[in-house]
Amino acid sequence: MTFTQFPLDDRVQRAIVAAGFQTPTPIQAAAIPVALAGGDLLGTAQTGTGKTAAFVLPLLQRLLATPAAGPRTRALILLPTRELAGQVHEAIRQLARFTKLRSATVYGGVGMAPQERALREGAEMIVACPGRLLDHLQRGYVDLRALECLILDEADRMLDMGFLPDIRRIVSQVPAARQTMLFAATFAPDLDRFAAQILRDPARVAVGTVAPASTVEHTVYPVPAHLKMALLLALLQRISSDAVLIFTRTKHRADKVTAALRRAGYAVGVLHADRTQKERQRALDAFRAGTVPYLVATDIAARGLDVSTVSHVINYDIPENADTYIHRIGRTGRAERNGDAFTLVTTEDYDIVRVIERSLGERLPTQTLDGFNYQQAATAMDARTGGSGRGAGNGRPHPGLAYLSSPNYRAALEAARKTGG
Ligand code: ADP
Ligand code: MG
Repeated sequence: MTFTQFPLDDRVQRAIVAAGFQTPTPIQAAAIPVALAGGDLLGTAQTGTGKTAAFVLPLLQRLLATPAAGPRTRALILLPTRELAGQVHEAIRQLARFTKLRSATVYGGVGMAPQERALREGAEMIVACPGRLLDHLQRGYVDLRALECLILDEADRMLDMGFLPDIRRIVSQVPAARQTMLFAATFAPDLDRFAAQILRDPARVAVGTVAPASTVEHTVYPVPAHLKMALLLALLQRISSDAVLIFTRTKHRADKVTAALRRAGYAVGVLHADRTQKERQRALDAFRAGTVPYLVATDIAARGLDVSTVSHVINYDIPENADTYIHRIGRTGRAERNGDAFTLVTTEDYDIVRVIERSLGERLPTQTLDGFNYQQAATAMDARTGGSGRGAGNGRPHPGLAYLSSPNYRAALEAARKTGG
């Protein structure tokens, strides 16, 4: 695939060559045709994958294809920080170098006057941080009535940083008949809700990230390592479901958990790489049919597993990273069904909880199970299946999990929750 396959103006094609871009990145290959067609777009791809050119190239094409009568602002790019504004402005300058199109930056921490001048002169593109743009808008010389295209870059970060009210005020001042594109590195339910408010029937382009279903509720259950199995059994007792998927870190631990659940009387299937293809297929079929309502699996074995009825995903062992977490919980809450994702965490898991929260852009609510005795001694079963299956953690305690190391676990947890810790 090459950039020449896109119907882009010759001046833009030359700038692409001058920039040294040879092949479009995956997000560019997926997003550019949609954007060129004029539709709204919701694009997610990791940092460093070329999202800027994915919206700048189609934007330049739009501005060149239908020249405006006079100098007026036709595109607004909102982003969270001054550094990003500078970067995107620079990318535009580079890709628009053979055209007369101009972009102006608007961000806080510097004088208003030069920005005011650029805005009054009517740059076709404004690259702005929401707060400072509102300052200019209040002074009355910014005219957004001719705006055709609104782009929100790093929308996930803008939400994290609390820009939502500012963005809403800005959006209320731009024409409703416009193309809107939203880009983010991570995807979270609040981003989905936000997108639904400002995009119209958007094409969703996701590269390298899996969107967690917005119908999933996350709960973290801190537990002393030696009580993991006991807590799993207590959780299962309270769930009435005919499809619960339980993840472990290794095949060995999958077998142990399966055996323990069978001893406790549950009908359980197991899915891991040491089972034959036939055994795996049988376990999966029985799980899908609902005749064996519990399935214990490792990540590798569960890859691509699509079971639309899963009500609960239980991470007996926390996943290694955020992507795996999102993959795992993607098995529940499918197709507008409500799903629950429970994650058992021990003191070793502090760091990973933080990483997952950062990636999802939200705190994972922490809970203890009412009536569960967190002070009890280990049973023989726990001794075989406790811990996280990893080496000892080396992290500082997650602020929300500090009570884990407290002797009076339950009381300390209550205190932490009351203070919002
Ligand atoms: P993102 O916004 O996804 O974090 P950027 O748009 O900042 O990523 O792009 C990251 C880097 O990749 C930039 O230096 C950019 O010039 C470069 N880049 C973008 N698209 C291409 C491409 N098709 N070929 C080569 N380099 C590219
Ligand atoms: Mg970017």
